[in-house]
Amino acid sequence: MGLTGIQIFKLLPKTNCGECGVPTCLAFAMNLAAGKAELDACPYVSDEARAQLAEASAPPIRPVSIGVGTRAFKIGGETVMFRHEKTFYNPTGIGVLVKADIDSEALDKKLKEWNALQYERVGLNLRPELVALKDVNGDKDSFASVAGKIARESEFVLILMTDKLDVMKAGVEACAFKKPLLYAATKDNVDDMGGLAKDTGLPLAVKAGSIDDLITLSDKLTGMGLKDLVLDSGSREMKQAFGDQVAIRRAALKAGNRSLGFPTITFPCEMAGNLDMETLIAGLFIAKYAGISVLSDFKGESLFPLLLERLNIFTDPQRPMMVTQGIYEIGGPGEDSPVMITTNFSLTYFIVSGEIEGSRVPSWLLILDTEGLSVMTAWAAGKFSGDVVGAFVKKCGIADKIKHRKVIVPGYAASISGEMEEELPDWEIMIGPRDATLIAKYLKDNWKV
Ligand code: SF4
Repeated sequence: MGLTGIQIFKLLPKTNCGECGVPTCLAFAMNLAAGKAELDACPYVSDEARAQLAEASAPPIRPVSIGVGTRAFKIGGETVMFRHEKTFYNPTGIGVLVKADIDSEALDKKLKEWNALQYERVGLNLRPELVALKDVNGDKDSFASVAGKIARESEFVLILMTDKLDVMKAGVEACAFKKPLLYAATKDNVDDMGGLAKDTGLPLAVKAGSIDDLITLSDKLTGMGLKDLVLDSGSREMKQAFGDQVAIRRAALKAGNRSLGFPTITFPCEMAGNLDMETLIAGLFIAKYAGISVLSDFKGESLFPLLLERLNIFTDPQRPMMVTQGIYEIGGPGEDSPVMITTNFSLTYFIVSGEIEGSRVPSWLLILDTEGLSVMTAWAAGKFSGDVVGAFVKKCGIADKIKHRKVIVPGYAASISGEMEEELPDWEIMIGPRDATLIAKYLKDNWKV
């Protein structure tokens, strides 16, 4: 639980030397409590006070990093029950299960298919992160061989799933360089798995039959010095598993229960008989409150909605989603291609760029930074006025890329055309459609150089 400013103040030197950038230790304490300052800014905090403050300021759910490379990700670190209270920070890792007895050719095919499932949206690459490799027959050599192949030949981060120490050791030897998650320590192997995780520095999942058992195992492992744990309450029945997710989050955040202050892992692949149902269950756990969710397969039609849901759930609701200001090329435009302009609200960009793409008319799309506001709102706020838009068109560099001097403004911002003409005397300001769905027709009917 966080300390108040006064509690923090009591641990500071109280010399008011001002070296931290504020005149008094009290002011610094208040800033620390509000998350506006870093403890390191005060060079005079004693080691003892530093340890106390670090412990007190540790997040109620520990952030745990898994994997290395382009698909490495972080889970946990959450501070609220409900997204609208602040935001959720670290998106649920999405994984797929593969059994260790898979033959090499089938694995190659699957990895290729799964790797292709990447989607560009609003300037982001949406893709799953994980392959969960499950030991099925205790054959440590084949487990290690498949683990090594996935680690070497794909970008996917690995979960190594076995309860046998020798199999886990073989898997770790084959892919430790990818920083896999070890799954799982149970009441029967907790000493061995805990020891292996400690020796290798790898994150460790803990599986129990109930939340009480989970607390016992978590306490034992943290007592061994392990910090990076991922919790599995063991339930594979949807209602109970969902209840466990909520109970774990609530215990960590509201009751300050450090034993449960870790991200969780869920297995929709073990809770349903078909991928559609698994997808629904995974959708539930992305919203509340899984750190990782593992499916039995990735198919575009099930994965894509989950990736979009994840994008939405883990977007800060207090900050509009934005794309970067600049010139966007759609369909390989040339010097005679149309130039359109709109705001940097992601949804606006997403819809307008999609419609331009659908029109099959290669075009330049100018995106103006309006702090994430849509066209009408930005216009009303003075961030999409004629002089601002005109100045942007002038300085963004589009004039060097085209022969003509025409720019199409959104129909809803038609009233800015007069001011734009003053700012851009050599340009023709064209009024585009109000509705993005009419862009294709508009270009067909109106675009001539
Ligand atoms: Fe107080 Fe430390 Fe800031 Fe000096 S640097 S005013 S001792 S908090």
